[in-house]
Amino acid sequence: MKNRIVKNPSSKRGIKRLRKLQKSIAERQLDAILISQLENLRYLSGFTGSSGWLLISEKKTVLATDFRYVEQAKEESPDFEIIHAKRELSAWLPDVASDLRLHKLGFEANCISYNTHHKLSEAVKTKQINLALVPTTDIVEELRSVKEPGELEFITKAAALIDIALEKAKTIIRPGITEKELAWEIEKFLRQEDSEGIPFEIIVASGTNSALPHARPTEKIMRPGEPVLIDMGARINGYCSDLSRTLFLGKVDKILREIYDVVLKAQITAIERIESGMDALQADRLARSIVEEAGYGDAFGHGLGHGVGLAVHELPTIGYSSTNSLADGMVFTIEPGIYLAGQGGVRIEDMVVLENGKARLLTKAKKDLSF
Ligand code: ZN
Repeated sequence: MKNRIVKNPSSKRGIKRLRKLQKSIAERQLDAILISQLENLRYLSGFTGSSGWLLISEKKTVLATDFRYVEQAKEESPDFEIIHAKRELSAWLPDVASDLRLHKLGFEANCISYNTHHKLSEAVKTKQINLALVPTTDIVEELRSVKEPGELEFITKAAALIDIALEKAKTIIRPGITEKELAWEIEKFLRQEDSEGIPFEIIVASGTNSALPHARPTEKIMRPGEPVLIDMGARINGYCSDLSRTLFLGKVDKILREIYDVVLKAQITAIERIESGMDALQADRLARSIVEEAGYGDAFGHGLGHGVGLAVHELPTIGYSSTNSLADGMVFTIEPGIYLAGQGGVRIEDMVVLENGKARLLTKAKKDLSF
C-alpha cells in the first residue's frame, strides 16, 4: 500500500460528476453554483488544497484559490480554469459573475458564514451587479452519497485497514494500560500502515467512560471486567472508514452482557433487513424497535448510522428524524448503542454498501465481546 497517488477526476469520471451537477443546477433554475465545502471541491475537481472555491455554470468551470495553491490546482484540476484569488470572496466574485453574465448564483448555505454572505451581498450592491445569491443545501452531498466503483475500492481498502487495526488493538489492550496509550498505539499503527492521518480522533473509553458515546481517551487505567469501547477510522486516497467494537477485559458484568446482546441483535437485524428504496427513518426503526422492546430505548440516544466517503460523516443520515431514502451504491454505518450512565456502554458499528437492494458488510471484524 505504498506510494498511493491522489488521482484527480480529470477523466470521464470527473466530467460525469460535473454533468450531474450541471443538471441539478439547471433544474433549480440557477445560472451557476459556488462550491466552498472542501470535500465537495475535491469530489468535483480533484483539488485537495485546504482553501478554494469552484464556480460552476453550464459552460464554465472555474477554480479560485490563493497563492499557496495555484500551482497545485493547475496540476490537480486540469478541467478547471484556475483563478488566483488575491483576496476574499467579495473582492473577486462579483466581477467574475458579471463577466460570465450570471444572474442567479447558488451557494452552499451550510458552508458560507454570515459574514462572508453579508460582505458578498454588499459588494454586489455597491458594484450594481444584477446577481441574486440563492441558498442551496446538499446538492453535491447528495451526488456524493451514491458511490462509484472507484470510490468503493478506496473505501473497501480503508475498511480492511481498520479491521486489521482492531486486531492490532487486541494485542495491546490489557489491564493496566491507559485509554490514551491504547488510542496512541492504534493511531501509530494506522499511520505506519499508510492511513492518511486519521479521519477523526480515536475513541477509547473504558469502564463507566464507555457510557459517554463520544468520550475522549483519558489517563484512566483499564481494569479487569471493564468494557472497552473503541471507535476508529482510517483514510485511503481521501476515503474514510469507521468501525466500533466493545471488548471486555475478562469477566463480563450481567447487565453489560445483556445490553451487548441487545445491541448485537439490533445491529445484525438492521444489516439483514435494510433494503434499497427504504426510508432511512425505517432503517433506523429496524434496530431501534429491538432496543426499545428490550427496555433500553432511552439509552440509545443517537441515530443508527451515517454515510461515509470523503467525509466520515456524510449523507445519508440514518436516524429517527432522517428525511433521506436509501439507494444502491450508498455506503453507511450501522451502529446502534446502549449507554447506561455510571455502569457502561456498548456500541457495535460496521460499514455496509447497498448492492442489489441489500446491505453488504465492508468491515469484517469479529463481534465477540471477549478476545
Ligand atoms: Zn460512526
